[in-house]
Amino acid sequence: MRINCFLSRSVSFFCFILMAASGIAAQQDAPSFRWYKGNTHTHTLNSDGDSIPLEAAKWYRENGYNFVFITDHEYITNVGPLNHILGKSGSFLVISGQEITDSYDRKPLHLNGLGLEKAVMPNRLQGSVATLQKNIDDIRVAGGVPQLNHPNFGWALTAAEIKQLKNVNLMEIHNGHPLVNNLGGGGSPSAEQIWDELLTGGMKIYAIADDDSHHFKRIGDKTAATPGHGWVMVRAAELTPAAIMSALDKGDFYASTGVELEEYTANADSVSIKIKAERWSKYRIQFIGKNGRILSETSDSIAVYKFKGDEGYVRAKIFESNGKLAWTQPVFSGGQKHDR
Ligand SMILES: [Zn+2]
Ligand SMILES: [Zn+2]
Repeated sequence: MRINCFLSRSVSFFCFILMAASGIAAQQDAPSFRWYKGNTHTHTLNSDGDSIPLEAAKWYRENGYNFVFITDHEYITNVGPLNHILGKSGSFLVISGQEITDSYDRKPLHLNGLGLEKAVMPNRLQGSVATLQKNIDDIRVAGGVPQLNHPNFGWALTAAEIKQLKNVNLMEIHNGHPLVNNLGGGGSPSAEQIWDELLTGGMKIYAIADDDSHHFKRIGDKTAATPGHGWVMVRAAELTPAAIMSALDKGDFYASTGVELEEYTANADSVSIKIKAERWSKYRIQFIGKNGRILSETSDSIAVYKFKGDEGYVRAKIFESNGKLAWTQPVFSGGQKHDR
């Protein structure tokens, strides 16, 4: 029996699951994957946050997260002592990082270097694309995973610019900072619409929801950049920096502002979703394809989308009746396939 899987790196893992379910002996022992909740964008007193790294990381541990990246502007926090204090149980991990804070023509061009252990300084080249690309390249050389931050902050970036970038697989579509214009307006697209434009153009880029938290002493203040607004649920074999960074870079995660999934499966034929439903909430699941077109919509907490072949890509967006959302990553259809 042969199983066809899309070439997309984001589904290779799911193909493996499909094989296991079909009773085919795996070539190596199957690692047991699980979901880890984390925030990829956090500031502390080491740049413009209001709390020491220990307090910031502690907030995440105490609020049910499994990992947090500390990403101060041009500063790498030594996470060893934090993990010594907070990570003893093995269920919480602080990972180092940096926000590389560049600009061009007064437009903010910010990238997170997830996992960086040594600071990467902004290059300040001519042009937004050249500046970002050089910083992306420097992050990769230094062993980090680049994440393009808040494309609508300062109305800095268009899809036409972002699609020229190479070797970046992550982009924020929901940043919890109150001034980053996630939803667009005034004729400018939302960060999610920018994402659809990139995907429609064939770019493999995955959506991040995170906090960009700065203010741990102002919880409840809507004008502050407080924690707890957006996160990622990463599927990894273990809670280590390497496993989390690799899963993020491959798109083995979904983004959320409150909706949790019980199951998510993508294979060569379909995408299926089961929401971990809250008692009094109601849900809507949209499957979205090329040009942001809604391919189908259900008002149930379980949904399956079977590929027809002309979607370009298929991603799901889940709406909860109080405004919580989740976004799954695109599965590319109609493209090349290979046998496993
Ligand atoms: Zn920023
Ligand atoms: Zn930031």
